[in-house]
Amino acid sequence: MRKGLLTLAEAVKLLRKHYGPPAPPPSGDPFELILWENVAYLASPSRRREAFELLKSTVGTSPMAILAAGPGALERVTARGILKENFADKLRECAHLAVEDFGGDLRKVIRGSLSAAKKALRSFPGIGEPGAEKILLFTGRQALLAPESNGLRVLVRLGLLREETSYSKTYAASRRTAESLRAEPGVMQEAHLLLFEHGRTLCKRTAPRCEPCPLARGCAYVQRVQSFSSRHSPPPAGRSAGPRAKPEKRPRSVRG
Ligand code: SF4
Repeated sequence: MRKGLLTLAEAVKLLRKHYGPPAPPPSGDPFELILWENVAYLASPSRRREAFELLKSTVGTSPMAILAAGPGALERVTARGILKENFADKLRECAHLAVEDFGGDLRKVIRGSLSAAKKALRSFPGIGEPGAEKILLFTGRQALLAPESNGLRVLVRLGLLREETSYSKTYAASRRTAESLRAEPGVMQEAHLLLFEHGRTLCKRTAPRCEPCPLARGCAYVQRVQSFSSRHSPPPAGRSAGPRAKPEKRPRSVRG
């Protein structure tokens, strides 16, 4: 690791101090966590939580309760996000799969091997490999960091992870980064949630807000920007700028 950069454990500690203890998802049950992923598409965390609470209080979160619900009841829930009809269908599809393929209970399959558990979870709508690992993290079954796009971007900007040629390769490389944390679900859950919150609020995709950021003093992105600026500061007044150099690219903004 480059000199002057924060370790992941140091970054998590500073984020905890800045944001306070993060709020976990509202359930540790695998089926409810699948619903949590599908309940409100592209909604803010507070709207997603609202949608989940509404589902729980008006329909219920068991597969049978969802299969028994009318389309209007499910759409009232999924309207907290966009594409309410599609996502009401997805909730129904989740319930159908849970009953047909897993006898209505996913707790047994997630107690199996990691690969079998991921395969089972990935058979549900909207759940790819990162989603499956995130569900296993929040059921407490696996100590995986499972960063989603916001968290991944923070790790890359901090210089803890190299951006690869594809999202899936960068995600896979993040597993090695996570090895520096204690391999306990609680430790990984907190790191996952804090990185997510940081990427969503300060370390945004298009314009990171580095000035108020608690990680700025040990961040690779900031170091690159500073080094770029010091090499390209305007010449003192009255002095020639010298021959025109070939323009240099600004540090790349990491995609989310
Ligand atoms: S200093 Fe800037 S780039 Fe680095 S983590 Fe903070 S917001 Fe992101």
